[in-house]
Amino acid sequence: DLVVQLQSVSRHYGETVAVANVSLDARRGELVCLLGPSGCGKTTTLRMVAGFVEPTSGTISINSINMTHQPPYRRDTGMVFQSYALFPHMTVAENIAFGLENLKWPRAERESRVKEMLKLVELSHLAQRVPSQLSGGQQQRIALARALAMRPAVLLLDEPFSNLDAQLRVRMREELREVIRGVNVTTLFVTHDQEEALTMSDRIVVMNSGQVEQVGTPGEIYEAP
Ligand code: ADP
Ligand code: ADP
Repeated sequence: DLVVQLQSVSRHYGETVAVANVSLDARRGELVCLLGPSGCGKTTTLRMVAGFVEPTSGTISINSINMTHQPPYRRDTGMVFQSYALFPHMTVAENIAFGLENLKWPRAERESRVKEMLKLVELSHLAQRVPSQLSGGQQQRIALARALAMRPAVLLLDEPFSNLDAQLRVRMREELREVIRGVNVTTLFVTHDQEEALTMSDRIVVMNSGQVEQVGTPGEIYEAP
């Protein structure tokens, strides 16, 4: 029941080997973290799953379909960027509806999905605000709602807490986990924060210098020397 599968995936930038022979997978509903220091290839790996970066070699499958050379919109993934990347001139509701509108969903169905997503992240009262009127944590929840609105098979999160202060970060970990559990979406997320990885993940993929160094549950990774 593998939803995400990477087989010997590499990405070179000229002489730089950003990602080297990475193989990893995620089962249905699993929360898998890519953990490692800055520059170890986490974001490049995540972007290859999303389809924003093309692998130099290797295979990426989603729900057993070879997606290696498919464009992002075909991959059934939803991504939350480090900076949230909300559209500043659109309301919260319009932001969440954006992908549905591109798919030409009828208005009533869009509205009902937007409502459902706002409820999921508990921000229904902010539907008509614009992003600049929201706190960092609220913007993050809207970005999450937007990513989940299309009910993607895979949720991709790039350092989701890096713009939040330490206290909020701890609260958001629980919140995010709860939302992910609630919709049972397979999730890959990237962090350099070991504590974050240990508290949030079902499984951790430890990366170093573009390679997978270790894979295990938080318990296994914590125990390891
Ligand atoms: P991480 O997310 O773990 O910080 P990245 O995946 O961003 O690591 O980067 C891995 C390596 O690839 C780094 O050495 C980085 O400088 C290089 N790299 C990433 N993107 C590019 C790019 N577009 N052009 C050139 N080098 C890149
Ligand atoms: P349009 O005329 O293109 O539908 P709107 O600005 O009325 O433009 O809405 C844009 C999107 O935002 C729509 O998809 C709509 O479903 C959603 N939307 C707007 N307001 C709300 C709201 N209060 N609650 C839920 N969804 C909303």
